[in-house]
Amino acid sequence: MNTYKIAVVPGDGIGPEVTSSAIEVLKAVAAKCGFEMTFEEYKVGGSAIDEYGHPLPEAALEGCRASDAVLLGAVGGPKWDSVEPALRPERALLGLRAGLGLYSNLRPALLFEELASASPLKNVSAIDLLIVRELTGGIYFGEHGRYDSDDVLSDGSVKGKVAYDTESYSEGEIERIVREGFRFAMGRGKKLTVVDKANVLESSRLWREIAEKIAPEYPEVALDYLYVDNCSMQLINRPSDFDVIVTSNMFGDILSDEAGMITGSIGMLPSASLGAPGTPGMYEPVHGSAPDIAGTGKANPLATILSAAMLLRWSLNETEASDLIEAAVKKTLADGFRTPDIYSGVGDIPVNTSEMTQKVLERL
Ligand code: NAD
Repeated sequence: MNTYKIAVVPGDGIGPEVTSSAIEVLKAVAAKCGFEMTFEEYKVGGSAIDEYGHPLPEAALEGCRASDAVLLGAVGGPKWDSVEPALRPERALLGLRAGLGLYSNLRPALLFEELASASPLKNVSAIDLLIVRELTGGIYFGEHGRYDSDDVLSDGSVKGKVAYDTESYSEGEIERIVREGFRFAMGRGKKLTVVDKANVLESSRLWREIAEKIAPEYPEVALDYLYVDNCSMQLINRPSDFDVIVTSNMFGDILSDEAGMITGSIGMLPSASLGAPGTPGMYEPVHGSAPDIAGTGKANPLATILSAAMLLRWSLNETEASDLIEAAVKKTLADGFRTPDIYSGVGDIPVNTSEMTQKVLERL
């Protein structure tokens, strides 16, 4: 029997509530599909600051490295807002990403037809796209700085302070993320859109060259390109036409929030961050620690439960178990159960966090 070691980072706020829901679902699906999972919990973020004086204790990073996959809730909250920047809970996330070598961020945007009314778009039915965002390069990590300039502008004023951030990508960085894009497109609708700004950016032109070079290895995948400004419009205009989008760190950061919102509530959005094949991936809901509703039973656990389904599919290759969870979530929504964030009145049955988890378990 296959046994998998899962590192769990519940984090702060609603993090522990939603991760425990996901663990219940994982245990149930493992029993059903005939494999075993062990869960080792690590304190990271605010809870780790309280206990160890540091948001990412070395033992937690080591534990995550030694696992098959990491399931994370969310970190942070007002209690730690005045902590010095280098020790903020959110720094732990950057430390985990860097420490685990996670270079691709996967954000599916799936509109459950049962929740179509929660989408801010009119007349949408089917949205099922995946954004593959490069996570460790580009402008967020390029050379940046400030200097003073006495140069004079066309209107006669002096430049004064200058600040700069540099978008820079190497062939290797682009190739590994574009390959991820093709790989995921092969497992889905076989359509890949490279999103860039190749009309003005040299780095984008290198992305296109590399995509063209790799494309012959995936003859079944239809490859196209969109400028990021056009893509942001088309996501609203014709979201159903997209399958997989691969893009740089900053463009992906912005577009994945946009794509997420058109599907409805933040409480429904899962995500994954992956590194080199064979290394543990990290799976987490897109939302934060929601301190405003922590401990009230209002948290929607579905984003974390769907993150657990992604973990099974992409890190453990347990596709049947993943399919079962996704089907159980869909059935739970079809049967009308709604946490407050997705409750819209007529016909909906209001439930709290643990009731929603129970409804998913019953449908598994
Ligand atoms: P948030 O996502 O925590 O909350 C935004 C709003 O969405 C709140 O009204 C909240 O109640 C609601 N919400 C979030 N998740 C929900 C869920 N599962 N069910 C129902 N409603 C939900 O964002 P924020 O308020 O900007 O940040 C709160 C804290 O979380 C901050 O400390 C922030 O730094 C941190 N944060 C952490 C992560 C992470 O760990 N990956 C991500 C974002 C924010």
